[in-house]
Amino acid sequence: MRVKVGVIGTGAIGIEHIDRINQKTQGAYVTAVSDINVKAAKEVAKRVDAKFFETGEALIASEDVDVVVVTSWDPTHEQYVLEAIKHGKYVFCEKPLAMDAAGCRRIVDAEVAYGKKLVQVGFMRRYDRGYIELKEAIESKQYGEALMMHCAHRNPSADENYTTPMAISNTAIHEIDVLRWLLNEDYESVQMILPKKTSNSHADLHDPQLLIFQTKSGVTIDLEIFVNCRFGYDIKCDVVFETAEVGMTDPAYTRIKSEEKNYTPVSPDWQTRFLDAYDYEFKLWIDSIKNDAVVGPTAWDGYVAAITMMACHESRETKTKVMIQMDERPALYNE
Ligand code: NAP
Repeated sequence: MRVKVGVIGTGAIGIEHIDRINQKTQGAYVTAVSDINVKAAKEVAKRVDAKFFETGEALIASEDVDVVVVTSWDPTHEQYVLEAIKHGKYVFCEKPLAMDAAGCRRIVDAEVAYGKKLVQVGFMRRYDRGYIELKEAIESKQYGEALMMHCAHRNPSADENYTTPMAISNTAIHEIDVLRWLLNEDYESVQMILPKKTSNSHADLHDPQLLIFQTKSGVTIDLEIFVNCRFGYDIKCDVVFETAEVGMTDPAYTRIKSEEKNYTPVSPDWQTRFLDAYDYEFKLWIDSIKNDAVVGPTAWDGYVAAITMMACHESRETKTKVMIQMDERPALYNE
């Protein structure tokens, strides 16, 4: 069976995912697209031989669509995911699942009422080889318990529309999900510290920012967010165990010796750094649909990320350590 995929949102990442599904996954193809930007969506529809739909709702209801991908503007995610659940269709939603924890909770409740996991959230770090190997090291306990993690998420530059809270909602959100997944436990608290501000930022963005998380078992994590670091796209995750340190490296396939220097290049951007992870994410998503059981990041993971994100904002505003409290996890999400 070939899975018929409908994509809502034909902007930057929507187009990448459309090509990924058509060119890199087995047994799935894009049959339908929709976007508020009608002209752009019709051009994409023509290029990939898919049907254009005036609204996301019409696309979801169509018999031409087995499963849905939501890559539209953040505030529209919740409505399309809820609509897909209403029709009993699997739905992949790019992060964020919804604009806040209450929106994520509405999706969780709808899915629990439906009685089956249909939603997968686009937390693609879980599909990166470096993180997968770190998880294996943590779970094997070959170096004892993980005690601390030192992490960083650095972008070369951010535009004028990128403001202080976006360092959490657009950037740290990836670490918020993947670090909890690595350790297989939830956060207990978070404290934000605002270091000296770089001169390469603007009035509405405090850059860099530092987050200190403590997990339920006491693992302490420091996470630097620095979106105007200038030198490249740099992701760090070093885990300190009882008897070893295991750190993730930037994937590089060449090394350069030139002008009396010996170096490996830094990734220029997130697309380059995580290209393989996106491909793997979609391959496994399509495979899981064929097995009729999605296994990736759930709506509950989207809810936990939103709760944690809100605690980060509160810590920044109150300049205090904030305890992270959430609802009890519904049985549907117990592994
Ligand atoms: P983008 O280029 O702005 O594309 C978003 C598209 O959604 C635009 O074409 C926009 O049209 C359209 N849109 C707005 N309102 C809509 C509606 N009501 N119904 C249907 N379409 C609507 O943004 P992007 O970079 O592709 O990002 C899309 C989503 O993916 C965002 O939620 C973002 O957070 C997420 N994302 C995730 C990752 C990741 O690493 N997982 C990376 C990048 C992006 P207009 O341009 O006319 O407004």
